[in-house]
Amino acid sequence: MDKYEKIVRLARRRGFFWQAFEIYGGVSGFMSLGPLGVALKRNIMDKWRNTFIVPHQDFILEIETPIVSPEIVFRASGHLEHFTDYIVECLDCGRKYRADHLIEQNTSLKNLERYSTVELTNMIRKYNIKCPECNGRLGEVGVFNLLFKTTIGPYSENIGYSRPEAAQGMFINFHRIYQIMRRKLPLGIAQIGKVLRNEISPRQGLIRLREFTIMELELFFDPKNPQCPLLHRVEDIKLRLLTEDLQRKDIEEPIEISVREAVEEDLIINEWNAYFMALAKEFIESIGVPPHKQMFVEKLPEERAHYAAQTYDQVVYVERWGWIEVSGHAYRTDYDLKGHIKYSGRDLRAHRILKVPKVVRRVEVKPIIETLREDFRDLMPQLIKTLGDLNAEVVAMELQNKGYIDVKISEGSCYRLTRRHIAVITKEEKRGVESFIPHVAEPSFGAERVLYTALEYAYSERDGRIVLKLPRDIAPIKASVFPIVKKDEFIEIALRIYDNLKSASISVVYDDEGAIGRRYMRVDEIGVPFAITVDGHTLVDGTVTVRDRDTWQQVRVHEKDLVKFIKLGCKNPKLSIHEILVTISAQCS
Ligand code: AMP
Repeated sequence: MDKYEKIVRLARRRGFFWQAFEIYGGVSGFMSLGPLGVALKRNIMDKWRNTFIVPHQDFILEIETPIVSPEIVFRASGHLEHFTDYIVECLDCGRKYRADHLIEQNTSLKNLERYSTVELTNMIRKYNIKCPECNGRLGEVGVFNLLFKTTIGPYSENIGYSRPEAAQGMFINFHRIYQIMRRKLPLGIAQIGKVLRNEISPRQGLIRLREFTIMELELFFDPKNPQCPLLHRVEDIKLRLLTEDLQRKDIEEPIEISVREAVEEDLIINEWNAYFMALAKEFIESIGVPPHKQMFVEKLPEERAHYAAQTYDQVVYVERWGWIEVSGHAYRTDYDLKGHIKYSGRDLRAHRILKVPKVVRRVEVKPIIETLREDFRDLMPQLIKTLGDLNAEVVAMELQNKGYIDVKISEGSCYRLTRRHIAVITKEEKRGVESFIPHVAEPSFGAERVLYTALEYAYSERDGRIVLKLPRDIAPIKASVFPIVKKDEFIEIALRIYDNLKSASISVVYDDEGAIGRRYMRVDEIGVPFAITVDGHTLVDGTVTVRDRDTWQQVRVHEKDLVKFIKLGCKNPKLSIHEILVTISAQCS
């Protein structure tokens, strides 16, 4: 049994996660989280917030936007066209597979996203790859769009899609937040929320889901001022980079290089991406992955998402699947905002103040009242109002390119206006500010992959027992309280301690069933860092034993110091129990 299998069994037995809809046979790509899974995920999300948002709260803000979006959003973002995977169907049994993955599993070939459908079909023929289920002949490779489709309300023509990333919510709302934040850049907008991707054949548990939680941040900056003023804070952190250049030379070992050097040598082309990659390295290390078990792999240009000028995937090593991606770091340039400006007709640009004012041509569009009234009668006021909301340059451009613009005044009512209805006036004026489309650096993490990775790196066995060595700050339950034997005098104190810890918002369990050894075992395997036992000494001097999950060492702590002890230990996961004791004793004296 490999580690993955052991974790899956533990997870199901103790309530971290299991396949969703299991009473109906399960549906792949969907998982349910149990009480421990929910608590662990919440702690991971809080840690992410505390790493990426809280220290930057003066310019990085969290928002929440809908999961379902109207079609136009994904037309503008390019997902309708590009968010696809390769699919191949068995001509005998009709099962469908992700074509590139199937070829990878049957050959030594890798990174096949860059090939065309024809090339992949040829590979299937060349290597004589058959259906893994029935050994049948496979058909031609095609493309499959991963967006989940739905309708909004009762109108079948009103198509909506579930978001495959939270990012578009940040792009669409950029300008509003920019105004709320008094028009300053850099500006970060972050979001943690559910996303859906209709993966073709997900078979990797928490690693490949059809519904998962994304933790995503879009950092908007002026491309003429792309420096990250915080870079000095992380410049000495070492990153392991498998660059495009190394991959082209078939080198599999990454170089280890400081953040500063990586930027100076242009290996990471954007400083903000470099800054977030350094934070990502520390974040993943703090959930239990040592530096040599993680690295950043640069996506080759032909493998990159449609919106990215450079992307590094942060990958970690797991026993069953080798290197898996836990976060993506994309330099998205102005791709997305440009798309939304084009499709919405709204001005989503930012402004920069010019040192020397410049003369610019300004375009104005004016409704021609007479012809509008003649052609549209009562609709004229609404058309004039909507026209006023549109960006004048976009309107002028549409009129010039197409000779008309379609103006939507409400759901389902769109009217075509031409130069007969709109006058375009060009003026020259001196300007002290200029408009530009900000560029964007994005770190994006999948919460469930981070959760699985934390479990894999925490999983250990000692004397035939499971010990889940989760970092204390993300452990779902921080302490357990046991009376040494089931007698009233011990139970009374143990329950008092249990209540006190709960009142101090510490997640804690109480257990007085069975031998103390078995009780330790039960809490070790769900990763509880501190086990508190009320014993004979407690009745005499008020101290209890606190046992450390990882070393099984014990110290005696006075009942009144327990809250402080546990909070300090969880805030500083690297402190030994002896160091915690010394620190709180020093604080008390
Ligand atoms: P991407 O936008 O594809 O770079 O995805 C961002 C992050 O989401 C990845 O780094 C993964 O951690 C996570 N992720 C992507 N696809 C899945 C999936 N199907 N199931 C679970 N997590 C995923």
